[in-house]
Amino acid sequence: MSRTAALSTASAGAPLTATTIERRDLRDDDITIDIAYAGICHSDIHQVREEWGSAIFPMVPGHEIAGIVSSVGDGVTRYQVGDRVGVGCMVDSCGECEFCKDGQEQFCVRGAVMTYNGKGYDGEETMGGYSQQVVVSERFAVRIPDALELDVAAPLLCAGITTFNPLKRWGAGPGTKVAVVGLGGLGHLGVKFAAALGAEVTVLSQSTAKQADSTRFGAVDHRATKDEATFEDLRGQFDLILNTVSANLPFDDYLALLKPNGAMVNVGAPSEPSSFQAFSLIGGSKVLAGSNIGGIPQTQEMLDFAAEHGIAAEIETISADQVNEAYDRVVASDVRYRFVIDTATIGA
Ligand code: NAP
Ligand code: ZN
Repeated sequence: MSRTAALSTASAGAPLTATTIERRDLRDDDITIDIAYAGICHSDIHQVREEWGSAIFPMVPGHEIAGIVSSVGDGVTRYQVGDRVGVGCMVDSCGECEFCKDGQEQFCVRGAVMTYNGKGYDGEETMGGYSQQVVVSERFAVRIPDALELDVAAPLLCAGITTFNPLKRWGAGPGTKVAVVGLGGLGHLGVKFAAALGAEVTVLSQSTAKQADSTRFGAVDHRATKDEATFEDLRGQFDLILNTVSANLPFDDYLALLKPNGAMVNVGAPSEPSSFQAFSLIGGSKVLAGSNIGGIPQTQEMLDFAAEHGIAAEIETISADQVNEAYDRVVASDVRYRFVIDTATIGA
């Protein structure tokens, strides 16, 4: 066992404070990562505040991890000390079921082990990336290309793969019109990926405050959803709507913006149930779908695509003592566009 500095919360909604936690001894296929940066995902806030049901405390959140390999187990083949690597939302899966074999570890039949607020197959509770070191199987690490700095790469490990996966699956590309709802951590990467894939991208944001940024990220249009004219003007326009909003939306209004046969895919995960009219789907044979992060092979594909296309997260780097304030700013949609913790400041 080794000890590492971490930001931990004792109970639901309690502030994050600096402490130390234990990391396991290296197993054969484990690597130790010296974490340089950890992104703050809205999912961290949902879980710290128990908005998704009961959670495990004390909790060290963080599933957007970027750092450097500092030691390797005897059986490690993929990585060496000094390699630049990332870890996302998962740290283990059975490796044997049809989904694991297909590189969709998030659907592991035994249950993928989440990076934090989860239990490993050894029964130990998992602790996430708001810390200075993590020990993880090499199967759940991905290589961060040299073209990407570690700080702007960290958010790709969750926000990046969560948007890249459905854009690919639902065919965002040349000749398609894609709307991204919510310009936050996920949304801004969704815009960049959709534009790089060749789609014509519109941002649907609560206001026009982020309009200039939408253009900078590659969108051709940006509309305020608080303006009712938006829903008149854009009726029947989109092949795909990617909803990244952390709160509930009036689904019928958004489904009306799809072309016939179009799909609205939800990655935003509000705690309250949603409702919609069946006729909002039936009329145009539309699809209302969800999407869950992405598997390890596709996470590597996404990072390589990002490096090739010059895609990185727009970040505000913060020190450990600013994390609680940062949470409030994320909830207020006041982040441009991802907070990233400089883990060297934990306990400093
Ligand atoms: P975020 O940075 O807070 O972005 C969410 C954006 O939604 C905000 O920037 C805001 O954009 C918009 N928004 C917020 N409240 C709203 C409201 N009441 N009405 C309308 N729009 C609102 O959050 P994130 O980190 O991108 O995460 C977004 C959601 O995805 C969270 O629920 C998170 O848990 C979930 N998530 C899901 C997966 C998955 O696998 N499916 C993975 C990661 C995260 P504007 O200012 O542009 O309106
Ligand atoms: Zn996340």
